[in-house]
Amino acid sequence: MAKVPKASELAAGTQHKPPKTGWMDTPVDFKPGTWCYAGKPKNLEVVGLPNPREWSPADADWKLPSNWQDTLHEGLKERLRKYRSLQLFMDICVRCGACSDKCHFFIGSGDPKNMPVLRAELLRSVYRKDFTMAGKVLGKMAGARELTEDVLKEWFYYFFQCTECRRCSVFCPYGIDTAEITIIARELLNLIGCNIDWIMGPVANCYMNGNHLGIQPHAFVDEIEEVTGVRIEPTFNRKGAEILFITPSGDVFADPGTYTLMGYLMLFHEIGLDYTWSTYASEGGNFGLFTSHEMMKRLNAKMYAEAKRLGVKWILGGECGHMWRVINQYMDTMNGPADFLEEPVSPITGTKFENAKGTKMVHLVEFTADLIKNGKLKLDKSRNDHLRVTYHDSCNPSRAMGFFEEPRYVLNNVCNHFFDMPPNTIKEQTFCCGSGSGLNTDEYMEMRMRGGLPRANAVRHVHEQHGVNMLSCICAIDRAVLPPLMDYWVPGVGVTGIHELVGNALVMEGEKERTTDLRNEPLEGMEDSDNEDL
Ligand code: SF4
Ligand code: SF4
Repeated sequence: MAKVPKASELAAGTQHKPPKTGWMDTPVDFKPGTWCYAGKPKNLEVVGLPNPREWSPADADWKLPSNWQDTLHEGLKERLRKYRSLQLFMDICVRCGACSDKCHFFIGSGDPKNMPVLRAELLRSVYRKDFTMAGKVLGKMAGARELTEDVLKEWFYYFFQCTECRRCSVFCPYGIDTAEITIIARELLNLIGCNIDWIMGPVANCYMNGNHLGIQPHAFVDEIEEVTGVRIEPTFNRKGAEILFITPSGDVFADPGTYTLMGYLMLFHEIGLDYTWSTYASEGGNFGLFTSHEMMKRLNAKMYAEAKRLGVKWILGGECGHMWRVINQYMDTMNGPADFLEEPVSPITGTKFENAKGTKMVHLVEFTADLIKNGKLKLDKSRNDHLRVTYHDSCNPSRAMGFFEEPRYVLNNVCNHFFDMPPNTIKEQTFCCGSGSGLNTDEYMEMRMRGGLPRANAVRHVHEQHGVNMLSCICAIDRAVLPPLMDYWVPGVGVTGIHELVGNALVMEGEKERTTDLRNEPLEGMEDSDNEDL
């Protein structure tokens, strides 16, 4: 792994030195720490993707198929026909520049090719050359250029320096969504075997094993009993359960996601929910979204297939980011309609989730917000008094779902000290974690720290103003990538899922006196209690 510069060096280094040559003629410099390793041949073979081979983006020879230009030309032609939004996005940009300083990668790197307008231009210039009369006749004068190996390398480098977060689209007066352009560009790159292993590994694992990591949540039952004295009994593959619960496997894999998972299990136990997990559809995350529309559809299909096999009424989904983009924007039309499921109704409050009429899938945070609103949970907020909490709106639930108020409602009901970050960094305008869309890999750490700088700056603001020491979020990737980002830019701030805080505050039937939170940290006023585990 490349050495990551110190935070002070990186902050000083955001002053990008403009190259001497124009943007069309400046080749990419594959500097360690700013690109991801290539997809391993075995992972491509598992899902039948073309051109599996050993190669590295830093190599001069990418071992491309001999007809790679024709393949990409035909691929772009097909997609222009299929996705009318793509055709529109290629034609209507007026280069007003409103999006240019809105990308976290541009802010953190200063590299002009990370301005959304120029990122899109990397593909648009080839589109002009191949598909417009002006481009064919006038060439460079019309902003057109040939698809050469240098251009291809530029595509790879910069379309894997976009987290598909859609922040830029919020500011574009024409609604151009650069994330969609990135999605198509990555799809094209996949046609000739140019992909990254941090995406291909999870895709292959998910396809073969049902989840990215091949693990199950049994382990946490003992830990919950240790903290609360209550034994919970989750079930797996139980036919006839009312609800199927699907969450990202990141919740089972490592702290702090595991604490969020404990919160889910405690909540379900306390309200007596009739639910089951599936060991087949055991992954909410869908790295197919970062590969191609076809792969996203393939990996998503198991959710409805399992719901049908188990005979449940509807599906409840855990705290995840891109999982919800796939569910909310694509699942119903891609793999639905799920007529065999019922319109979701909370068995505890009777609330009908009209917004989930199409997908038949409800987000756990809105489910919990509804429980609280209807007075169904006994909560002791003071159990989170050792924490001063802020909230990171994960890009997908916020911009792809409009999910702004429910998380804040839950937070304000489970903790006494909640502080929002500045308005231009939250909700619709939230800044990305800098590591989404499959870029959460170690070899890419410098770019992650650069891309995460704007988010970290906003956290630093509430850390300094209000003593915030905990950053909450509802995304499994965020729970994995925000801890190193905080350690780097704002040491002293931890990361949590919302249901960890719910689990801390939840007063359970028959519980023992709580002296610690779910992390075994002493509750406020319990620092001296006789707890041999501390
Ligand atoms: S804001 Fe929209 S129209 Fe303006 S440069 Fe950016 S993508 Fe083009
Ligand atoms: S989608 Fe996000 S990462 Fe991509 S160009 Fe726009 S702001 Fe940058």
